[in-house]
Amino acid sequence: MRYLITGGAGFIGSHLAEGLLGRGDHVTVIDDLSTGSIRNIQHLKGDPRFSYVIGSVENAPLTAELVDAADQVFHLAAAVGVKLVVESPVRTIETNVKTTEIVLAAACKKRKKVFVASTSEVYGKSTDVPFREDGDLVLGPTERGRWSYACSKAIDEFLAIAYWRERHCPTLIGRCFNTVGPRQTGHYGMVVPRFVKQALSNEALTVYGDGQQSRCFTHVSDAVRAMIALMDADHTVGEVYNIGSEQEIRIADLAERIRVLTDSESEIGFTPYEQVYGENFEDMPRRVPSLEKINKAIGFEPQIGLDETLQSVIDYERSVEPQLV
Ligand code: UDP
Repeated sequence: MRYLITGGAGFIGSHLAEGLLGRGDHVTVIDDLSTGSIRNIQHLKGDPRFSYVIGSVENAPLTAELVDAADQVFHLAAAVGVKLVVESPVRTIETNVKTTEIVLAAACKKRKKVFVASTSEVYGKSTDVPFREDGDLVLGPTERGRWSYACSKAIDEFLAIAYWRERHCPTLIGRCFNTVGPRQTGHYGMVVPRFVKQALSNEALTVYGDGQQSRCFTHVSDAVRAMIALMDADHTVGEVYNIGSEQEIRIADLAERIRVLTDSESEIGFTPYEQVYGENFEDMPRRVPSLEKINKAIGFEPQIGLDETLQSVIDYERSVEPQLV
C-alpha cells in the first residue's frame, strides 16, 4: 500500500512512517517542519519506499497531488502542544481547520480512506472519567485560549464524520491521549521530555500547579500499532476511537518517578499555572480513556507500561546531545 502521512516529520508521524515501512508499505510524508523536524525522519531517507516533501498541507494543489498518488492518508498535520496553542491561537485554529478541510476534500474526490488524528483534548474539562467516545465534550469559554485547540479538533472530527455520512467518503478518527516516546520534544510544553531533560541535567523539575492533576501516558509504539490496525479494519469507518493507556499517574508522582529512574538529584519545584500560561488558564484534573471501544474493534491493549515508556525517553535523551528544554 502507498500511504501519505501529513505531519509525518512530527513525533508520532515519524514513528508511524517507521511502522508502515517496517511491514513493507510505501510512505510519503508532507511536513512544513513547523513543529516537526527533519531529524525525526533522517534515518528513513535511505529507504527506497520512503519519500518526503517539505511543504504545507495548506498548499491545496500540492496536497491534492500527494493524496492522488497514495492509497490511504493518515492526517496528522496539526498545531499541537499546550504552549503553542496558548501562545499562537490564530495559527492553531487556522492550521487545524484548514489542513483537515483540504485533506478531506482532496481524498474524497477519489474516495481515499483518511485517518484523522484527533486528541483527548476534545473531552475538555469533562469529569466523566473514564472518557468514552460517546461522552459529552465539555469546553470552557472562548475567552480562554486553551479551548480553541479542543474546539478546532472537534470541528475536524465533525467534518470527517460528515464526509462519511453525507458524501460516503471513508474516514475514521483516533483520539490520541498523552503519547510519549523517543524523539518527542519538550519545546511545546510536553511534560515527559521536559521532566526527563531537567532530571538528566540536575535542574529542578517544573511541576505546574499542585501536581495533583493526572494523565495516562501511552508509548508511541502502542499508539502507532493502534492507528495502523484501525486504518486496516473495514468496520472502523465513520467511527471515533480513543487511543491511549489506562495507567493513570499524578504529575507530582510522575516527577518523582522520573527522578528515581534517572537517579537524579533534581529538586521538584511547583510553578503556578499563571506564571507559565498566563491568567485564566484552566487545566484538566484527570484524563483517562475508556479503551472498551477500541478493544472490541481491533483487540487493542497497550503493551508497554509506564516505567518502560519513561525509560525509553530517558535512554533517548541520554543518547542525544543536551539541548535547552
Ligand atoms: N506539566 C507540568 N510541567 C511541565 C509541563 C507540563 O507540570 O513542565 C503538566 C501540565 O500542566 C499538565 C500535564 O503536565 O497537567 C501534561 O501536560 P502536557 O503539556 O504534556 O499535556 P496535556 O495533557 O496538557 O495536553
